[in-house]
Amino acid sequence: MPREHAESLIVEIPDYPNPGVIFKDLTPVFSDPAAMAFVLDACATHFADKHLTKIAGIEARGFMVGAALASHLNIGFVPIRKKGKLPRDTYRVEYTLEYGTDAIEIHKDALTSADHVLLVDDVLATGGTACAAGELVNLCGATLEGLAVLLNLDFLGGAERFAQTFPNTDVFTVFG
Ligand code: AMP
Repeated sequence: MPREHAESLIVEIPDYPNPGVIFKDLTPVFSDPAAMAFVLDACATHFADKHLTKIAGIEARGFMVGAALASHLNIGFVPIRKKGKLPRDTYRVEYTLEYGTDAIEIHKDALTSADHVLLVDDVLATGGTACAAGELVNLCGATLEGLAVLLNLDFLGGAERFAQTFPNTDVFTVFG
């Protein structure tokens, strides 16, 4: 079964990068064509009625799935990057981490009010990064349709936080 095959490739690494964290390594999924085909089909089917015009991938592992999905759907890909990495005029949104703050950016001209955008990342944890990314889409004046992730760490409440922050959107977890 494609789904079971894909899911079986996910590797859990205890105490990485910090004690107490179980890191979900999806790189074996990215390197397996059948697993990626399942992931891309699942996302494409789920959002088929949204008439997406752009995929916005969150640095860095959102780039792998996001760029592949954009190509699969024959629509454009837009990177959302850590601060200071994009070379032209950007919008910036700060968000809080366990210790301190970080910021992500998008090129101001990456999206327009005509765009219907799906955010993509590999893992949804607290939802802080995804919510900041959603704000960036809104700052561009585009319509945020939803968020697609491969895994949701349920106990951290990220999906609820995203749904409360962006009520008219759809959160899809491939291996939910
Ligand atoms: P958050 O802002 O807390 O939702 O964190 C989301 C970001 O951190 C995503 O870009 C994930 O790639 C990464 N991340 C958080 N927790 C994990 C984990 N346990 N395993 C793999 N990646 C994680």
